Amino acid sequence: MVQPAEPGFIYVLTHSSRPNEFKIGVTTQKVEKRVAQHNSNFSKIAGQIVKDTGEKWQLQEYHPISDIYTAEAAFWGATGIADIPYRNGVEIFPMDEKTLHAGLIAARNSGVVSREKKKPKYNRDWMIRELEGTGISHIGRRFNHAQYTEFQCEHGHTFKAIPRMLANNKRCPECKGQ
Ligand SMILES: [Zn+2]
Repeated sequence: MVQPAEPGFIYVLTHSSRPNEFKIGVTTQKVEKRVAQHNSNFSKIAGQIVKDTGEKWQLQEYHPISDIYTAEAAFWGATGIADIPYRNGVEIFPMDEKTLHAGLIAARNSGVVSREKKKPKYNRDWMIRELEGTGISHIGRRFNHAQYTEFQCEHGHTFKAIPRMLANNKRCPECKGQ
C-alpha cells in the first residue's frame, strides 16, 4: 500500500543548557506552533528541560519538506546514524554543525518517494502459498508464523502446527504415520 505524502517541515531547535546538541523534528503543523508545544509539554523530555532550566528551546532553522517520513529517514541516513534511536518526540542529539547540515540538505532534497507499508513477510498469504498442492489448509482463527495454529489435511485430520515448521515439512502428522 502506498502512503500519501505528508508535506511539512524539518526543524532544528537549540537550548542554552545543551551546547552542541540539537533537537531535530518533523511536523506537518506550523513550526511555531510545534515549538510552542515543545516548550510547554512538560511530560516530554524537551519540555522537562524547559521546566528544569526555565529556558525555552530556540528555533534555529526550519525547511519545507515534501514528505515528513522520507525527509526524516533521509536526515538520519545522511548523518550516519543508521538506526533512528528514538521516534515521536525524543530526538535530541549531540551533533556537529557539519553533520547537522548534511542531514538537512538530504532532508530538503529527499522529495517524495512512494512509501510501501511494511507487510509482514510470513503472513496468511505466505502460508497459503506454502501449502499450495499439499491438501493442507489453515483453519485456525489467528495466524502468527511462529505460534501454534490449526490446520486440516485433505483427509479431514485437524492438527496444530507452527506455520514456519509446517512450511518446512508440509505434512499432516496423522497421515504421515499411515
Ligand atoms: Zn491427515
